[in-house]
Amino acid sequence: MTRRVALIGNPLKRRHSAVMHNAAFSANGIDATYELRPIGPDEVEGFFNEARQPDWLGFGVTAPYKQVAMSHLDRVEPGAAAIGAVNNGVRLDDGSLVGFNTDASGFMTAVESMGVPVAGHRAVVVGAGGAARAVVWALLDAGAESVFVANRTPGRAHDLAESLAHYGRVIPGSLDDRDVAAALRSAAIAVNATTVGMTTDTVAFDVTSLPQEALVFDLVYVPPITPLVRAATARGLRVCNGMEMLVRQGEIAFERWTGIGSTADVMRNALEVWLADSETGR
Ligand code: NAP
Repeated sequence: MTRRVALIGNPLKRRHSAVMHNAAFSANGIDATYELRPIGPDEVEGFFNEARQPDWLGFGVTAPYKQVAMSHLDRVEPGAAAIGAVNNGVRLDDGSLVGFNTDASGFMTAVESMGVPVAGHRAVVVGAGGAARAVVWALLDAGAESVFVANRTPGRAHDLAESLAHYGRVIPGSLDDRDVAAALRSAAIAVNATTVGMTTDTVAFDVTSLPQEALVFDLVYVPPITPLVRAATARGLRVCNGMEMLVRQGEIAFERWTGIGSTADVMRNALEVWLADSETGR
């Protein structure tokens, strides 16, 4: 029996997840496929009924279904419930579906792989959308002293801070240059969780005031090298890009579906070969 995993979303423009998961299935001799399923809102319930069948290992979820998916599952793990979004899930042997959030754990695994301490340190997150929520929760869960959240629409930063206040100190703010620069001066880690760098060819924030030992983390993975990554590299800061987070969160989901870990190298190599062979890097 060929086992199945599908990613639901609408639209589904990126093939990155399919490339890395299918490479990991193949490298581990598992008869399974990861497919992309662009579906409409009225097809979500039917999809989750289908995913309860024995040939399914699990599922991925992307925009705009990360919130609504939660109401179709048998269980949502606490981290995903706190973040308010599920981006992956597993089918258990009894056919029940459990949702979780690998954006948060993938982000934190990537940070840990850089040897950057989070507990007791300050962080800055630019952006207040779904990815920012996962990152802020992950930083608080890892014991960050505080997280300054700067967003173009300050009201969304306030909403985020209010809903995650239970987990630690979140300071909402705007993209005002002086406020962001002041927060960056004492930050151990600074994260771009906006689409800036993907939809525009500009830096998400100015890296000038960051301490020399700080980590700059850009969640954008198309293109893999953004203006922010270039600016941080030029300043000699530690840098992590969105591709590494994508791979790490994929590795965590794959282990939940198959029990097989340590697939990051296979996934990373598959993405690099695929990107080199195509125009999809931009
Ligand atoms: P989202 O919910 O749509 O949020 C978008 C964020 O970007 C909002 O904070 C928005 O501000 C901000 N923004 C958009 N255009 C802007 C501009 N011109 N100037 C300043 N801010 C702007 O998106 P998301 O799902 O959080 O994703 C955010 C990014 O993370 C995307 O690039 C996505 O590809 C990436 N991501 C990467 C991974 C990974 O594994 N590497 C995982 C998840 C997401 P407003 O609130 O003012 O609109």
